[in-house]
Amino acid sequence: MKAMVYHGPSDVRVERKPDPRIEHPNDVILRVTASAICGSDLHLYRGLVPDTRVGTTFGHEFAGVVEEVGPGVRNVAPGDRLVVPFNISCGTCYFCSRELFGLCENTNPNSEIACGVYGYSHSTGGYDGGQAEYVRVPFADIGPMKIPDDMSDDDVLFLSDILPTGYQAAEMGGIGGGETVVVFGCGPVGLFAQKAAWLLGAERVIAVDRIPDRLRFAEAYNGVEAVNYEHVVDIVMRLKDMTDGRGPDVCIDAVGLEADGSRLHTFLGRVAMMEAGAPTVIGWAIDAVRKGGTVSVIGVYGPPWNLVPIGTAMNKNLTLRLGQCNVKRYMPHLLDHIRAGRVNARAIISHRFPLEDAPAAYEVFARKEDGCRKVVLYPDAALAQA
Ligand code: NAD
Ligand code: ZN
Ligand code: ZN
Repeated sequence: MKAMVYHGPSDVRVERKPDPRIEHPNDVILRVTASAICGSDLHLYRGLVPDTRVGTTFGHEFAGVVEEVGPGVRNVAPGDRLVVPFNISCGTCYFCSRELFGLCENTNPNSEIACGVYGYSHSTGGYDGGQAEYVRVPFADIGPMKIPDDMSDDDVLFLSDILPTGYQAAEMGGIGGGETVVVFGCGPVGLFAQKAAWLLGAERVIAVDRIPDRLRFAEAYNGVEAVNYEHVVDIVMRLKDMTDGRGPDVCIDAVGLEADGSRLHTFLGRVAMMEAGAPTVIGWAIDAVRKGGTVSVIGVYGPPWNLVPIGTAMNKNLTLRLGQCNVKRYMPHLLDHIRAGRVNARAIISHRFPLEDAPAAYEVFARKEDGCRKVVLYPDAALAQA
């Protein structure tokens, strides 16, 4: 089959590799019809994720048609259309039974800290991802959701990751009605966190980024107040000024370890690698949020440590919530929002490419130029013209 293959930092290619096969009775083989590139894939692309091996295929946001089922599979059959969560979850362990699917303890033998994830290095289990013509889906009865017949792949593709992720970010913010919420980041995750903040009852939503296109899109798509942190002297002071001097009730980090905005953290975390990425936004969030407020971190950071102002957080009586998304838990609820028209998830797609052009797609997305917001790859090149 054809698949995107990692060769080293900023070097991905499309090559032929063996078709995946059923390796366990609970597997299915999915013929991929659409597969997105995620902001998280950029951390892999830039070589920032430990144990990313040459030959790995990325891709953890995909949909497709069941081609072959293992003898133990009960809930899906050949021909079913599925959208698949990025977490690989067993469905029965201590964590899965509490709907903490992102913490499953049976799908990643290599780590105490994360479950199996498609196409996300050997530190999350070494599973090949879906930026390919075919992908093996383990525990096929547990994670995947059938795509309703009247909905297209593009309609539901983002139920695999970024829509639930944005939603969980807002939920971790404890939004229950009436809050002022600041979302750092207007990438796909930030956009859905902003949308979810409104859905959960926020009174005011403020979005922060540095890319003018993205800020404009956030204003139009989510009706937020947009602030370009590069156009203000001090973003923390600006956010306090906008909120009676006290600070917002909730700050959400939808940026993660590749944040810009601090020379110190950019050097320590992204150049010298003396901390695990740049925790610039965590610092801004802790400083800006009001006393007693909540900071929700959905942006990705790697172990083991970062320089964050934990003493400030302690003295301000903050609640800190952090985590990988438990995708499956949110899928049915968010499908309802899509069906009811409250969330038009596909509207955030800015670029479509044939799978064959994955290297170009990564380059455009990584540079965040050309209005690039979200990229989807299609093994059937004709669909990329849609
Ligand atoms: P993205 O790279 O497309 O977007 C990040 C945005 O942050 C960009 O628009 C960038 O300009 C902006 N940014 C950079 N520095 C900033 C700063 N200091 N202040 C405000 N904005 C800043 O990525 P994405 O797909 O939207 O993903 C965002 C983060 O969420 C990534 O770290 C990704 O790995 C993470 N993520 C986490 C989960 C999870 O389960 N926890 C799931 C998916 C993605
Ligand atoms: Zn992702
Ligand atoms: Zn489990």
